[in-house]
Amino acid sequence: MYALAIHGGAGALPRAHYTAAREAEYRDGLARALDAGRQLLQGEGSALDAVEAAVSSLEDNPLFNAGLGAVLTATGTVELDAAIMDGSNLRAGAVAVLRHVRNPIQLARRVLEDGAHVFLVGEGAERFAAELGIEAVSNELFITPYRREQLRELQQHPGPGASAALDEPPFGTVGAVARDRRGNLAAATSTGGTAGKRPGRVGDSPVIGAGTYADNATCAVSTTGHGEWFLRTVQAYDIAARLRYGAASLSDAVKEAVSERLPRLGGSGGLIAVGRDGQIVMRRNTPAMFRASLRSDSPPSIDIY
Ligand code: ASP
Repeated sequence: MYALAIHGGAGALPRAHYTAAREAEYRDGLARALDAGRQLLQGEGSALDAVEAAVSSLEDNPLFNAGLGAVLTATGTVELDAAIMDGSNLRAGAVAVLRHVRNPIQLARRVLEDGAHVFLVGEGAERFAAELGIEAVSNELFITPYRREQLRELQQHPGPGASAALDEPPFGTVGAVARDRRGNLAAATSTGGTAGKRPGRVGDSPVIGAGTYADNATCAVSTTGHGEWFLRTVQAYDIAARLRYGAASLSDAVKEAVSERLPRLGGSGGLIAVGRDGQIVMRRNTPAMFRASLRSDSPPSIDIY
């Protein structure tokens, strides 16, 4: 039995941007990403291949806050973060503050495969990409008119606190978790981070254990939401630890984290998880979360609210 779940971010809906036609486009993007992963899982592909393929598809879709169409930093540039983890051997690859790599998740996979390091950032990560022959693209390539407008609005109407972006959680980080027929689990997450962030800021998404985690013995998790809170709670690993040490069920562990602990602390967002048995759990404490899932024994579902 195989299982795959993906998310396209949790938060409050971007009001002006959001129409019925746009909703259909988001659903279509999720369906295509799910399909990219499914094709691998129903053949010989591994869970790791499936999460990479699903996340690559979402990175290429300008609607989501990852790869093309990612949010802008306070200075109007794009800085991308991603991580991938193989639950069968706990190998992981992560990259952050990328400005010129078109598909950060694919570079994260190469970091995992190389195996010398787990986490590469900025210039060093881009040098590694160049050594691998990955073409560098201009930072402009990632920037869409909507993201420019979003930044302008944020800067014209800053909310209380450090930045308005932190009052209204970002929307659009992408992630995937999978279990393949052999029982291997994997997780992947990719993001542009939070809109209007300080250049150099890194959230939870590429941090193994915070935004991304996979271990065949417990579960695979990909998060989305206020990265600062998911970092502080070491959220993805916390779910796995509840299973590992506390013998919690996956759904209870996710519920406690997302619906009780995070809101108590002031953190908003959601996460997707898959257990060793292929059980999929998706939960949020925000009005919406783009999400989709399928299992070999049940049809796909795509939901926003
Ligand atoms: N968690 C991501 C970050 O803080 C953002 C998101 O999921 O929307 O970078």
